[in-house]
Amino acid sequence: MSQTEIPPVASNTTSESWTEITPQALYSKCLTVARNLWWSWHPEVVNLFRDLDPVRWRQLDHNPIALLGEMTPDQVAQRASEVVLYTRINQAHRRLKDYLGNKQTTWGAREGGVLGSKPVAYFSAEFGIHESVPIYSGGLGVLSGDHIKSASGLGVPLVAIGLFYDQGYFRQHLDIEGLQQEEYFDTKVENLPMEPARDPQGKPITVEIDTMDGKLLAKVWLMRVGRIPLYLLDCDVEGNQPEDRELTSRLYGGDVRTRIRQELVLGVGGVKALRALQIYPGVYHLNEGHSAFAPLEVIRERMHDDGMLFEDALREVARCTVFTTHTPVPAGHDRFNGKLTEEHLGPLRQQIGISYEQLMGLGRVEPQNEDETFCMTVIGLKLSRRANAVSSLHGHVSRRMWSNLWPWRVEEEIPIGHITNGVHVPSWLAYPMQMLYDKVIGADWQKEMGDPGIWQKIYTVDPGELWETHNALKSRLLEFVRRRASRQCRRRNEDESTVLAARNVLNPNALTIGFARRFATYKRADLFIQNLDQFASLMEDTTQPVQFIFSGKAHPADEPGKELIQRIANLRHDPRFAGKIVFIEDYDINVGRHLTQGVDVWLNNPRRPLEASGTSGQKVVLNGGLNCSVLDGWWAEAYNGKNGFAIGRGTQHVDSDIGDARDAKDLMSVLSEEVIPLFYDRDADGLPQKWIEQMSNSIATLASRFSAHRMVMDYVKHEYLVAAGGLSSDMSVR
Ligand SMILES: *Cc1c(COP(=O)(O)O)cnc(C)c1O
Repeated sequence: MSQTEIPPVASNTTSESWTEITPQALYSKCLTVARNLWWSWHPEVVNLFRDLDPVRWRQLDHNPIALLGEMTPDQVAQRASEVVLYTRINQAHRRLKDYLGNKQTTWGAREGGVLGSKPVAYFSAEFGIHESVPIYSGGLGVLSGDHIKSASGLGVPLVAIGLFYDQGYFRQHLDIEGLQQEEYFDTKVENLPMEPARDPQGKPITVEIDTMDGKLLAKVWLMRVGRIPLYLLDCDVEGNQPEDRELTSRLYGGDVRTRIRQELVLGVGGVKALRALQIYPGVYHLNEGHSAFAPLEVIRERMHDDGMLFEDALREVARCTVFTTHTPVPAGHDRFNGKLTEEHLGPLRQQIGISYEQLMGLGRVEPQNEDETFCMTVIGLKLSRRANAVSSLHGHVSRRMWSNLWPWRVEEEIPIGHITNGVHVPSWLAYPMQMLYDKVIGADWQKEMGDPGIWQKIYTVDPGELWETHNALKSRLLEFVRRRASRQCRRRNEDESTVLAARNVLNPNALTIGFARRFATYKRADLFIQNLDQFASLMEDTTQPVQFIFSGKAHPADEPGKELIQRIANLRHDPRFAGKIVFIEDYDINVGRHLTQGVDVWLNNPRRPLEASGTSGQKVVLNGGLNCSVLDGWWAEAYNGKNGFAIGRGTQHVDSDIGDARDAKDLMSVLSEEVIPLFYDRDADGLPQKWIEQMSNSIATLASRFSAHRMVMDYVKHEYLVAAGGLSSDMSVR
């Protein structure tokens, strides 16, 4: 979404003149809109906030509450009359009101069945909604954010549960050596669109969780994401031990004890929060293992309320629990030893009347095996009747990975299905592309974007217009990169000539390849330089120039990941690559949006099959970029030979060194034999007709399939409705 280039739209409506509304009323309308994250996926509203003060808007991470906090009502009114904002403010306010009021005619109201009275409770350790709300680290969070935004758009009855991290994830800078530096900042709560959640009596909610060595308290915040309430638990409350007040400060910070305590708060505390709110879900959706303690607390409730026996309660609760697993990397699954597990789950274990061995058995593949630690994925799988992976290939991998849990079943019958991830289209689609779709597909296309049929109309687009739109986005990306690159140099106190060079990096006409993701080693960010000299000769050809933009963080404890960053960031010092390879610091949703909206090619070369799905490439599709990826995750089911590029043929090698070398070779050949020649194959008008054809193919075949709307509809149809139907009737009358 453009924060910079779209000029303020002059209003041609005079009916609502500034005399009819007081500055206070105008200001309060702005604030109402700013306090629901709905604004963040409506470009007209984003641009409205930007136009209040474009410079501060950027400096404040696009946070409208912070921006309004710096302005008085009179200043807002003054600015509104200067750049004609009255109508736009009124319109935004009215649209939000209509959106929130109109729940009856949504897809969710029609198709959501019993969920209307028994909503879905969606648990996730992180939510990536917008760069101004830093409670996410990466892919998992962005997926959760997109899930609830689409649930909002579709009108699916769903409430979301997460943690409030007042420092969030770290902000990244590179020092002069290229080494990652991590900084944490306190988020100002008053600048976030949240308020204390209140029970039906209007009292703020604090939940208590027992552990073997004392109570943990968490207060509950409410954040509004369109029609979806997001409840965030926060341990920074009076009454907690000083160290516990910092328990939820940082995302994925601290040691394993911090981790289990955070997960206790999320799972058990989350269920307690729902109860205090008097929300009685029909479905508990555990997005990844972090929240997998939640069903234990639901079991406790059922035993307490309905006098059920443990085994019966477990069966009932599992029936309404949906578990989504995201990681095919063994190290990615949380595991806790017996001591930590008992310390934190002991009281709950006693209340539900099971022994220590039984509890540990729930987190073990072999319940009796005392050498096995307690695994969150295992308990998630055992306490849910419906489990899914996040792409077709990941489904196969997960069934094999967990087949020991069902030793009597053949692999195909392991009860882990898959629902492939998707992205929230309005959040990731650039405004100029949206306008092109409005024109080519029809103004109402967003209402039907889950229908593959409507996307066929992209073939009627004028190739020149599609190309021009893409190039406008590309130059916006280049401007962003130059601004960031020079700022990075200035911050490192580099000399003026370096700063100046950074301000002019990249060539607007060159094939621009983007690569941004977590710098975990299996993602192999350095695959392209496995053979540096060969790569350099590829980059030498000035008739067919190629350039790269990189971005991504390594986990603070991941030294090899940090070395990878350093190696790539320092390529800028190699004269062969100067001005052609840029590393953008502090990858976040804002950087992600600029990159995925402006690149020609999105590169993804993980070690197959370790990428569960990946979603960044799906954002690229919407904006007319082409994917060039290993056949892993979502790309393994998306690629059809005509809608992008494949690295290798979708095989794996048992020896990862051999596999890496082969993939590096395949990457070089796909770049030099397919990608580069196709991009530079121009007609008399300078248009790469065959390339543009691939852009259209990519949009036509992939945009609807890999949207979060399709994903959420799949969850409703194949998981939620079945799970909610499985509840016994006494639960449903509440
Ligand atoms: C989309 C996105 C991701 C997830 O992308 P992957 O393809 O899984 O790497 C991670 N971080 C940010 C900031 C994103 O926008």
